[in-house]
Amino acid sequence: MKAAIIEKKTFPREVLCGEFLSGEVVSAIKEFGLYDEFLSLHPNKVTHFRFIPENGVETSHALGFEAYALKRSRLDQLLLNAAKDSGTVVFQPAEVISIQPNQDIYKIRYKTPNDDLFLFTDTVIAAYGKQNTLDKSLNRAFASNRSGYNGVKYHINNILLNETAGNEIQLFTANGIYCGMNSVSENETTLCFLSDRNVNQQDPKNALDVLLQRNRKFRSLFACDPLTELRKLPIYGTGNIYFGRRAAVENGIFMIGDAAAVIAPLAGDGIGMAIESGKLIATILTEAKKYKSNKHTIEEFYAAGWKRLFSKRLSIALHLQQVAMNSFGGNMSGQLLKFFPQLAGILIKRTRNVKSFT
Ligand SMILES: Cc1cc2nc3c(=O)[nH]c(=O)nc-3n(C[C@H](O)[C@H](O)[C@H](O)COP(=O)(O)OP(=O)(O)OC[C@H]3O[C@@H](n4cnc5c(N)ncnc54)[C@H](O)[C@@H]3O)c2cc1C
Repeated sequence: MKAAIIEKKTFPREVLCGEFLSGEVVSAIKEFGLYDEFLSLHPNKVTHFRFIPENGVETSHALGFEAYALKRSRLDQLLLNAAKDSGTVVFQPAEVISIQPNQDIYKIRYKTPNDDLFLFTDTVIAAYGKQNTLDKSLNRAFASNRSGYNGVKYHINNILLNETAGNEIQLFTANGIYCGMNSVSENETTLCFLSDRNVNQQDPKNALDVLLQRNRKFRSLFACDPLTELRKLPIYGTGNIYFGRRAAVENGIFMIGDAAAVIAPLAGDGIGMAIESGKLIATILTEAKKYKSNKHTIEEFYAAGWKRLFSKRLSIALHLQQVAMNSFGGNMSGQLLKFFPQLAGILIKRTRNVKSFT
């Protein structure tokens, strides 16, 4: 099949993300034949997950799968280059402005810096992320939702920290906020947090202040005044992230990745789900071509396959997020993990594709 990607940004670009690459991502990288090239980017190997709630009762747990941390700019460039090398046509920078179905053909309007153009196709796969003006123009039910959940990412130089995360993904929690921390290169750490404006009433940029005040271990990480230093850095963020249900197929358009559903970030599984859902639709379309299936059958297959793969982990991750973003829940979880460390392994498994476990 002939494929084209229309991408708004010039790569390499950053996106809001904790930059933890789970077992699902590593399996896909191997399957795509990109493992050696990936390792040549020197990703940081992550072997453990550390949970650090407000009361400081911290625990560390083996992940049970091969995982890494790497800047999204580098991972996404690797994947886009591989798509080009396999014959995919890439229009970039080019922003999709509208997608109009007209009987069996879609008319896609997109803009480049110099032109306003159209592309016609019989199949559209929407991979435009968690939030987009296209959601409104496609009349998606959640498009006007204002959840109050805001995400922010910084890359911070390690000289500003007293200690780095090393081979751990570390999760610090406090009321209405949690922050993931990863070493993404020899001298840089990713700090990525999700805050709930309904709880702490803070502007997203200042929400970290709540974590600094309430989580002593988080505060002691910094060898500087964190708020002053972070204000000098580029900020990658999104407001009002919607974690609720979305349709996997809308107007015959196949939604993948965050466009299909956003998993609670504490599961560290969003990139894996984006790749897995892409693989799912690719497999279904390939089979459908062989058996000459009609569009309706393809849509039903994709919606059912998507539900089977992702529904359960989405809802478990959302519940875990609700517990972690609450003072009492976070502290209780810390105690439970201390006395029943095997619980961590069970919960980690429940939020992902078990095939990725070693
Ligand atoms: C706070 C937070 C922390 C997270 N941490 C992690 C983590 O550590 N590990 C993990 O696995 N997941 C994490 N995630 C989730 C992960 O970032 C996403 O699930 C993943 O990036 C989804 O990939 P995607 O391809 O669907 O969307 P994106 O990565 O958002 O990519 C969408 C692409 O579409 C392009 N685009 C958008 N609109 C248009 C348009 N109109 N025309 C053309 N192009 C367009 C964008 O430029 C972008 O390149 C986190 C999420 C949040 C909110």
